[in-house]
Amino acid sequence: MKKTTIYEDKKAKAEQRTYACPNCGYPVMDHMTQCPNCKQKLTPRGYVPLSDEKIKKIRYVTYTIGAIISIVIIVLIIVFRK
Ligand SMILES: [Zn+2]
Repeated sequence: MKKTTIYEDKKAKAEQRTYACPNCGYPVMDHMTQCPNCKQKLTPRGYVPLSDEKIKKIRYVTYTIGAIISIVIIVLIIVFRK
């Protein structure tokens, strides 16, 4: 049974996240924004811009939570005043 070391595992994961620069073919990591070889600007692969729908959803949830917290604070103030 072959046992992979932590180092080998990390190396394999790093290789999975490596791709060739579209400009010069130099292996670059997927989070890099610039090729270290040719200085070409790269689009990080892990980066996915938020869609308007998602932003709206996040905003709605944030406002809802904010409103609930505000109501709870107001209720607590009223209750503890007495
Ligand atoms: Zn390059």
